[in-house]
Amino acid sequence: DQFADNHFIRTIIEDDLKSGKHTAIQTRFPPEPNGYLHIGHAKSICLNFGLAYIYDGLCNLRFDDTNPEKENDEYVNAIKEDVEWLGFHWAGEPRFASNYFDQLYDYAVGLIKDGKAYVDDLTPEEMREYRGTLTEAGKNSPYRDRSVEENLDLFTRMKNGEFPDGSKTLRLKIDMASGNINMRDPVIYRIRRAHHHNTGDKWCIYPMYDYTHCISDAIEGITHSLCTLEFEAHRPLYDWVLDNIPAPHATRPRQYEFSRLELLYSITSKRKLNQLVAEGHVSGWDDPRMPTISGMRRRGYTPEGLRLFAKRAGISKSENVVDMSVLEGAIREELENSAPRMMAVLNPIKVTLTNYNEAQTESRTAPYHPNNESMGSRSLKIAPELYIEADDFSENPPKGWKRLTLGGEVRLRHSYVMKCDEVVKDAAGNIVELKCSIDYDTLGKNPEGRKVKGVIHWVAADTAVPVTVRLYDRLFTVERPDAVRGEDGQYLPFTQFLNPESAKEITAYAEPAPFANGLPAESRWQFERTGYFVTDRKDHTAEKPVFNKTVGLRDTWQA
Ligand code: ATP
Ligand code: MG
Ligand code: MG
Repeated sequence: DQFADNHFIRTIIEDDLKSGKHTAIQTRFPPEPNGYLHIGHAKSICLNFGLAYIYDGLCNLRFDDTNPEKENDEYVNAIKEDVEWLGFHWAGEPRFASNYFDQLYDYAVGLIKDGKAYVDDLTPEEMREYRGTLTEAGKNSPYRDRSVEENLDLFTRMKNGEFPDGSKTLRLKIDMASGNINMRDPVIYRIRRAHHHNTGDKWCIYPMYDYTHCISDAIEGITHSLCTLEFEAHRPLYDWVLDNIPAPHATRPRQYEFSRLELLYSITSKRKLNQLVAEGHVSGWDDPRMPTISGMRRRGYTPEGLRLFAKRAGISKSENVVDMSVLEGAIREELENSAPRMMAVLNPIKVTLTNYNEAQTESRTAPYHPNNESMGSRSLKIAPELYIEADDFSENPPKGWKRLTLGGEVRLRHSYVMKCDEVVKDAAGNIVELKCSIDYDTLGKNPEGRKVKGVIHWVAADTAVPVTVRLYDRLFTVERPDAVRGEDGQYLPFTQFLNPESAKEITAYAEPAPFANGLPAESRWQFERTGYFVTDRKDHTAEKPVFNKTVGLRDTWQA
């Protein structure tokens, strides 16, 4: 199937369905709306929505919004748009953890009444001290044995805004000597006077992630709660909370972990991507160089290509470090079939056809895709002046050169064989023009008595459409920009490894036919022999075409 090869989570689900533990599965994708989604999220989206699709279940979109200062509606909207663009549909309306704040509060009161939670007055520094270390047990807080009545009173007053920010917390009473630090009386509520994108100023206490996530899963009837491996040590807490509250739903969710995707030469952290935007290293979250879903969309990546990539990245518990060539390979492979072709010259040199004869020149019909007739065709005709790529001519060609050279011949794609008779240079010795001649007996057939191996693309100078083309190179110069240590052993700022040459804008010349009716934004094309390009989602207009380079035709990542 299209989403994922067999992996351990599918095995678990199939066993659960077979044993009757669940009759249907329910997953969720739970982003925090504190930034735009990136390629790592794409993997998680394909997994969660893909499983729901494969097993006829449902997948919720849930915003995990418990950190009001960092979250906003711009991010909420961008996330919805990205998930839909990737081709997925969430069950019902999007959910918000913040919609459960009342229920979460009631469960907390219940835990207090059961003697399983207490209000603590330790300062953050003291709490750190009391927590202990990996090798040393923690110590009980002096406030741990407050009475239920006192705790209920204090927690109500925390909610009512009687105490300053950070002065008190609500903690679970679990075990300060636990080998798992997450179980050492974790904080489940803190006081924060911050405006919340969804609940406004209703609350001045906010629940913590670990407490919120499992209860949100339970409220929504999630069967398989899939998260990345760093939450493995949080699973006992996930289960503890659900074991100690009245079940809101017959279905008991279980957490399963898989490894986080890491993409080389890239960054998969919203916080760090935010820094690139905030410091102006890129034009925005959707800059085509960004590994965000919206950036990759603007770059010309397709939902199908990203889903193919997610499938290839795979789901497992072992390290998931993936080379950029795997991502680009999936995109290229998908565009190979879906993108029509046109000819465009990016770095032109003028060719004058000295024997051009209008009466003798025939046009030729060329399909927009070599093996997909439904994409249609256009008619191509040479002109007295052409542009070809400067790179396709060499005066002193290396061995094996198949392109144009003085005295040599090439085939003009979909047209005649052409010979270069003369090189015209300026005073400084730069080639400014090639004088060439056409063999009129070569349209659709090989020339008599000789082989012409090279085929080059071209455009007619008088009708070519000038288009803006943005060329992109790698954003970072090193494989792991956020993991390079300096001499002192500290991580160096990842912005130090930005490639100063990662974006360039040029004017190219394209054949006119594709533009006849005005190209819409987000049209994806192959410029023959050059690569895949997309009309920019924001800046392209039918009158002033703007293309972004999506990916070249060949891998450039392998040294
Ligand atoms: P970030 O550090 O970029 O904010 P996060 O994990 O905190 O990442 P969330 O918004 O909480 O971001 O993530 C939503 C879901 O996407 C989570 O289930 C998370 O595990 C998953 N996810 C995030 N990054 C990756 C990744 N690199 N690979 C696989 N899944 C990921
Ligand atoms: Mg998170
Ligand atoms: Mg995060």
